Amino acid sequence: MPQNGFETVIGLEIHAQLLTKSKLFCGDSTIFGDTPNSHVSAISLAHPGTLPVLNKEAVKLAIKLGVALDCTINQYNYFARKHYFYPDLPNGYQISQNAAPICVGGAIPIATATGIRHIALNRIHLENDAGKSIHDADPENTLIDLNRAGTALVEIVTEPVISSPEEASACLAMVRSIVRHLGVCDGNMEEGSLRCDVNISVRKKGDPRLGTKVEIKNLNSVRNVKRAATYEEARLTRMIENGEEVLQQTRNFDADTGITTALRTKEEANDYRYFPDPDLPPIIVTSEEIEEIRKSIPLLPHEIAQELTHKYGLGQEASSIISGDDLLYHLFESASVLTGQHAALANWLIGPLKSLINEKGASSIEGITAPKLVSLAELTAQNSVSFATAAAKILPEMLSGNEHDALAIARKLNLLQVKDTDALNEWIDQVLARFPEKVLEYQKGKKSLTGFFAGEVKKLSKGKADIKSAMEILSQKLNKQ
Ligand code: ADP
Ligand code: MG
Repeated sequence: MPQNGFETVIGLEIHAQLLTKSKLFCGDSTIFGDTPNSHVSAISLAHPGTLPVLNKEAVKLAIKLGVALDCTINQYNYFARKHYFYPDLPNGYQISQNAAPICVGGAIPIATATGIRHIALNRIHLENDAGKSIHDADPENTLIDLNRAGTALVEIVTEPVISSPEEASACLAMVRSIVRHLGVCDGNMEEGSLRCDVNISVRKKGDPRLGTKVEIKNLNSVRNVKRAATYEEARLTRMIENGEEVLQQTRNFDADTGITTALRTKEEANDYRYFPDPDLPPIIVTSEEIEEIRKSIPLLPHEIAQELTHKYGLGQEASSIISGDDLLYHLFESASVLTGQHAALANWLIGPLKSLINEKGASSIEGITAPKLVSLAELTAQNSVSFATAAAKILPEMLSGNEHDALAIARKLNLLQVKDTDALNEWIDQVLARFPEKVLEYQKGKKSLTGFFAGEVKKLSKGKADIKSAMEILSQKLNKQ
C-alpha cells in the first residue's frame, strides 16, 4: 500500500491471441512452436502487391468477448495502419484499430472482499501481431522468426481505474479465465498467447488529476503483474515523497530480481500517423449477428462463482478458484451430484489438484474422474484418513495405479485413522507418562499444552491416531488427574 495519503492508479493493456487456425489476414497457420519461418506466405512477409483478406472467425471471437464483457459492439468499425519500426514487423506498420475499435466500453468483473467490482474498459480492438526477434540463439546476430507475424490479437484496454497491484493481477486472472472459458484465446501466458502491459501512476489522495504514468511492458504471468506493480508503486511513491519529477517512461520488469528498469523515456506522444487502411473494407456487424453470438455465451466465471456459493455453500475463495478454471469446475459439477460432501470436494480441487495443475499442467490430473474424486472427498470428510496424509499418499497412488477407490488404497497402505478407544488410550497414557512435568504445567493452568500432547500422540501413532477423538480423551484425562 502506498503510504502517507498517496493512491495508486493502474490501467492494463492485455493482448490476447485469438484461437483462430489461420492468421488475421491470410491463411498461414497459427500453430505454436513449429520450425521458425515455416508459416510465412507473401502476405506475412508483406511483399508489395499482396492484399490482406480478413479472417471472419477472428471478428466473431472479438465480438464474443465484447458481448461477454458488456461492451457496445461497434457495428461499423475499421482497421487503421499504426506506423512504427520494428525489425520483426515486415509491413513497417501494424494493422490495428484506432478511431473505430470493434468493442467500446464494458467491464471486467473481479471478485473483491466486498463483492464483485467492475473494472471499466475503454475498448477492445483487433490487430495483428509482430514476429519474434531471438537475441540469444546466435552469439553474433539477432534472428527473426516470422511465424507469429500476422496472427490475430485483441487488445483489451482498461480505463485507469484499478487501484492496487492485487486488483491488477485479479483483473488479468479474470480475463484469462474468461477468454479460456469462452474459447476466445488459450490464455497460455508462457507461450505468449496472453500478455499484459501495466500502466501505473501514483497521486496524492483526492487529487482529481492523474499522476504521470509509467508503462511496464509484456508481463507474462499473473504473479509478475502483481510483483511489477508493487515494485513500481513503491518506487513512484518514494520519488514523489522526495519531490523528484516522475518521467513518463516505458519500463521492463526483470522476473529474476523483481526490479523494473527504464527502457525508454517518452518525451512526447508517439506519432503513429494512424490512417484507415485502404486495403481493407470496414467491418459491418449486423444486430442479428450480435444476437446470434450473445446466445452462444455461457455463464461467466463470476456468475458460476455466485452459483457455487449459493447452491453448495462454498466460501468465496473456493468458489472463485473453481469457477476460474474450467477443468476444476467440470470436475466439481460432475462430482457434486454423487456426494453431499461439497466442502471436501472443494478442498481437494483448490488444494492438491490445483497445485498439481500449476506444477505439472492440466494433463497431470487426467486420471482423476468424478467418482475417484468423490471417494477421496468422502474419505477425508469422514476423517478416516487425515487430509494431509491422503494428499501425500493416496492421491499419488490413485494417479499412478489402477485402484479407483480411496478407501481401498487407504486400507492397502494401512493409513486408516485409528478411532478405537483402547488404542487411543494406550498412546495417550504413554505420552502423559513420558512428560510428567508438562502435565503439571497443564494442571497449573497452561491449557495450550493440549496441542503439544496431541502432537506427541500423533507422532507416536505415526499419524494414524484420529486427532479429534484423541483430543477428547486427552482433555478428559488431563482434567481428571
Ligand atoms: P497511451 O497513449 O500512452 O497508450 P492511453 O491513454 O491510450 O495511453 O492509455 C493506455 C493505458 O494506460 C490504458 O490502460 C489507461 O487506462 C492507462 N493509463 C492512462 N493514463 C494513466 C495514468 N495516469 N495512470 C495509470 N494508468 C493510466
Ligand atoms: Mg500504450
